[in-house]
Amino acid sequence: MSVTGLCQVCESREAEYTCHQCGAAVCPVHFEQDRGVCVHCADPDGTEDVFAQPAGDDVPEFR
Ligand SMILES: [Zn+2]
Ligand SMILES: [Zn+2]
Repeated sequence: MSVTGLCQVCESREAEYTCHQCGAAVCPVHFEQDRGVCVHCADPDGTEDVFAQPAGDDVPEFR
């Protein structure tokens, strides 16, 4: 699988995965490979402030 663009969580690493739940493109650091979702979806309680913007919208800075 190859995803073009930056991780929508950290916006600093290249995204290599797509969250199966919200569709966000994320880097390996912010992807829970066990569940196939991004850290945001893996942590619905939001104990970690990993997302600066709501998920589900168009990719804001897709390159
Ligand atoms: Zn990341
Ligand atoms: Zn997600």
